[in-house]
Amino acid sequence: DQNTMQRLAADLGDLELITDSTALQRYSKDFSWFSPVLTEALEGKRADAIVRPTSEEQVRRVAAACYRHRVPLTLRGSGTGNYGQCTPLRGGVLMDMSGLNKVLWIADGVARVQAGARLVDIDNAAREKGWELRLLPSTYRLATAGGFFCGGFGGIGSITYGSIGDPGNVLGVRAMSLAEQPEVAEFRSAEARDLYHAYGVNGVITELEFALTPAMNWQEAVLSFPSFMEGVRFCQTLGRATGVIKKLLTLLADPLPQMCGLGKDVGEGRAAVLCLVNRAALEAVEEIAANFNGRIERQQDNAEVYGTAKSLVEHTWNHTTLHILRKHKDITYLQSGFRPWENVEKVEQMYRHFGDEVMMHLEFLKADGAVTCSGLQVIRYTTEERLNQIIQYHRDNGVHVSNPHTYILEDGGKLSVDPGQLAMKQRLDPAGLLNPGKMRSWDEKGAAA
Ligand code: FAD
Repeated sequence: DQNTMQRLAADLGDLELITDSTALQRYSKDFSWFSPVLTEALEGKRADAIVRPTSEEQVRRVAAACYRHRVPLTLRGSGTGNYGQCTPLRGGVLMDMSGLNKVLWIADGVARVQAGARLVDIDNAAREKGWELRLLPSTYRLATAGGFFCGGFGGIGSITYGSIGDPGNVLGVRAMSLAEQPEVAEFRSAEARDLYHAYGVNGVITELEFALTPAMNWQEAVLSFPSFMEGVRFCQTLGRATGVIKKLLTLLADPLPQMCGLGKDVGEGRAAVLCLVNRAALEAVEEIAANFNGRIERQQDNAEVYGTAKSLVEHTWNHTTLHILRKHKDITYLQSGFRPWENVEKVEQMYRHFGDEVMMHLEFLKADGAVTCSGLQVIRYTTEERLNQIIQYHRDNGVHVSNPHTYILEDGGKLSVDPGQLAMKQRLDPAGLLNPGKMRSWDEKGAAA
């Protein structure tokens, strides 16, 4: 209530509590409008106040005050998540972390940053020292370090480095508890990963340490193939080609290239591949493409388009979906994972079964050391019943489907309770105030107690 918020504001001292209703509405939202289900479920959910700390000391004041007054606290990086991750379900304070934006140091293939630093800024700072980030979401121009680790998965770079949650990619995090006297601790390796993709329900991350990779001169290329399956076989072969250094390998079945704005590069009826490879490998890419009747349609130097909408990366991952959703209203999407070793066969089975109803967008990546792919299939939406049938057919045939139409952690990618995440919540947020309502196993535990 208002009294509580006033007492909380008094505890925060010179740190301003923003209660302007336009700001509250804007900051309480992310890109959950991708899903009609989430749009409805999150309607009207918003914070009661926003706070924008610029130092860890200020974060500590917020954590202590929220604990003392038992006010929910939800964190936000840049709000580019797709599942309402930073939307407060039970009001309270929304803490915008983007003011903690320092790159603390870069040395020996490691970057130490504050949680609100934008990935583009970290990447640029690393390049000055001859390194670059291993993984970037296609939203890297806006997305923050903390938001990527706590809400994301992978993206540009996953073809070599897998997911941001894979051991070795994030080396450690510094996280704060919600308590009368908040504590800050450094968590390394497996313990750090207990905070990975947990939507900020089990700790306030203030710093992260990313492993880097040597900076490379990347070349961007659009290729086209006469058929989808030739494109799939090309991607699988290039994915495995150890002599070609890769940062991105995306496949779009016809008619997706036309639907997402690549019609100038790719003729109607053809499948498109978008890739980033080391510049010297272009001839090898051309050679492999020819084996599958493909050709390079256009190429550009990544350094010239980096950080702009002209880069091909902004036609990949969920940016493909974004471009299509903006123009086509009768569309929805899936997120799926194909197991290594059988991915080509399963992709073909799904492609033949659904035809044009489920349009294939594949992102090739490394999982368990093997080349496989995940799908961000674009679906011609008819009814919810049909959508569920489509999901069930995938699952019945061994294709993992993550539901992008839920804000509950367990119902999304993981599909099960993560005991490490739950234990971390018990340790750093015993009062259950961080982003409440997103972790079912915690809520059920509370109800049982
Ligand atoms: P936010 O959305 O602000 O936050 C994400 C989650 O992290 C929230 O639950 C928030 O509470 C929590 N959080 C934020 N900061 C902290 C902190 N300091 N401590 C604890 N918890 C915190 N994702 C990918 O993985 N790969 C992609 O390629 C990709 N492409 C996308 C394309 C489009 C068009 C869109 C709309 C989204 C895409 N995403 C992708 C999803 C999203 O953009 C990324 O995951 C991004 O990294 C999120 O960063 P953010 O700073 O915007 O996080």
